[in-house]
Amino acid sequence: MSECLFCKIARKEIPAALVYEDDSLLAFKDIAPQAPVHLLIIPKAHCEGLADMTPEIAAAVGGLPRVAARLAQEQGVAASGWRLLSNCGPDSGQSVYHLHFHLLGGKPLGGRLCL
Ligand code: 5GP
Ligand code: ZN
Repeated sequence: MSECLFCKIARKEIPAALVYEDDSLLAFKDIAPQAPVHLLIIPKAHCEGLADMTPEIAAAVGGLPRVAARLAQEQGVAASGWRLLSNCGPDSGQSVYHLHFHLLGGKPLGGRLCL
């Protein structure tokens, strides 16, 4: 069994505040939110990051922006605006090596491209 934290969340072995689930994607609240709305959207299948996607994971991730837009609507930030980003590798600050996208909103996020 994988020791990966987000694989464990995907398998429901570790609790998380889930906000969306389908066959290939899962979304849950970040445990240390950087904004009033801070969700993480992940492929259920393990993949270290953006540089390691298999064709199957890339296909799943292809639908992710639409899921993000739906979640932004549900979370009440569709009109005010939101950001979707994924860190890849040490210089980006990636700390969990299971591909994930941050959905941030609910306050002015500024022009910075980092959290
Ligand atoms: P990264 O720095 O890799 O781009 O983002 C990892 C994110 O995962 C961080 O924002 C961090 O707060 C979040 N995180 C780390 N551990 C957990 C956890 O156990 N549960 C949840 N929901 N989020 C986590
Ligand atoms: Zn994983």
